[in-house]
Amino acid sequence: MFDLTGKIAFISGGTKGIGKGIAKVLKQAGAITIIAGTSQTRGESIAKELEVDFIPLDVTDQPACKSAIDKIIEKYGRLDILCSNAGIFPQHYLKDMTAEDWDLVHSVNLKGTFFLVQAALNVMEKQHSGRIVITSSITGEITGISGYSHYGASKAGQLGFMRSAALEYAGQGITINAVMPGMIMTEGLQSFGDDFLDHVKETTPMRVFGVPEDIGYAACFLASDEAKYITGQTIVVDGGQVLPEVQEA
Ligand code: NAP
Repeated sequence: MFDLTGKIAFISGGTKGIGKGIAKVLKQAGAITIIAGTSQTRGESIAKELEVDFIPLDVTDQPACKSAIDKIIEKYGRLDILCSNAGIFPQHYLKDMTAEDWDLVHSVNLKGTFFLVQAALNVMEKQHSGRIVITSSITGEITGISGYSHYGASKAGQLGFMRSAALEYAGQGITINAVMPGMIMTEGLQSFGDDFLDHVKETTPMRVFGVPEDIGYAACFLASDEAKYITGQTIVVDGGQVLPEVQEA
């Protein structure tokens, strides 16, 4: 396990699913960990369970993103790691998709990433150090799923954002990378329904779903001192899902 002792780490969407898994792993690696989500009740309860701090935050609110980072600086003096993980994936088939459906997904997944990463970079720039890890997806950049064209566009968009942002800050001791999960069993994924999930499990080469901590371990590596020469890159964590050229029986 990479050592994050004493590092200050902030995880958006850290109150459930993948973000909660990232929070667990970073805390286990020694980081002083702060999680965020929109639900105050759940946030406080998960923070208690994980023995971490909680800041209520809706990432679509730009001043709130800035103020969350300010609160961290006031309390801890610095911010070493940002995991921009908050995201939503409501299903909407293209024929019925409204502008509002499209905007909501982009607002949380893509604009929310921009708001929070920008706010974190403003303090990391003064520190001349920092690690940013974005939770993107295999969906969009590599694969597609019916009913998720808006989601795929937002997740591929995060990677386009990440690459240019990484270049802007490469000379300043700050790295910006992304993890691309496949099917990870979370509260959010359960909404896909049993039939779909059974099919996915059968067709995933490793024949199991990932667990949130699998993404946590990849994020922990990218957040570590040992990953200091890696920026603008991605790690796919998907049990081999994107590999098959043909579907094997
Ligand atoms: P999840 O179980 O639904 O958890 C989502 C988290 O994001 C919750 O903590 C939620 O907290 C928070 N959140 C949602 N909207 C927010 C907002 N506007 N502002 C701040 N926080 C917000 O989802 P998940 O499966 O863990 O997915 C997490 C991330 O991984 C997403 O970016 C998703 O695209 C990505 N991903 C997931 C999978 C998968 O298989 N699960 C695969 C690829 C990529 P509140 O409800 O309290 O707001």
